[in-house]
Amino acid sequence: LERLNLLKSKIGEYPDFPKKGINFKDIFTAFRDGKVCAATKNLVLNYVKKNHPNIDAVVGLDARGFLFSFLIAAEMEIGCVPIRKKGKLPGKTEKVEYNLEYGTDIFEVQSDSIKPGQKVVIIDDLLATGGSLKAANELIKKCGGIVEANIVILELRSINGRKNLDVPVFSFIQYA
Ligand code: IMP
Repeated sequence: LERLNLLKSKIGEYPDFPKKGINFKDIFTAFRDGKVCAATKNLVLNYVKKNHPNIDAVVGLDARGFLFSFLIAAEMEIGCVPIRKKGKLPGKTEKVEYNLEYGTDIFEVQSDSIKPGQKVVIIDDLLATGGSLKAANELIKKCGGIVEANIVILELRSINGRKNLDVPVFSFIQYA
């Protein structure tokens, strides 16, 4: 609880970024403090090791999800798979178009990065509308993977993005 409160107290808030009316939560502001980095690392690793000990890989969303996916993968000695915005990944890819809080985009995953039947969790920094994670869940299913859960550090509850996600969702910090 102390770790959570420390992290929460240091999250940056930027009104009207990147558009008017959006109150942008900036996790990088918190990571200027090394104690927060260490606390967040412990929080995330403890949670995933305890609740998802049998996953085969961890999937991170472009770009802040990568901070957490590699950390977990290295600790658990499992694979680390990126989902990226279109045009960034080499080789054959699966694609899904999605809506996000501000605009639409295409997400891609390398077709051979997940083998059929592999169990994964997908992680990102923040859940808003759920458009990004919904697309990510679809991509992993296209590859034959099984999504055990979606994990985010921050959740904007008022938008209720969870309703768009058909897997268990866990967030460390919630905003009303
Ligand atoms: P969603 O698809 O609407 O759930 O939006 C989540 C995606 O947009 C994540 O990849 C977030 O990094 C990004 N995002 C949306 N709102 C914010 C915010 O307030 N702070 C940081 N990232 C955000």
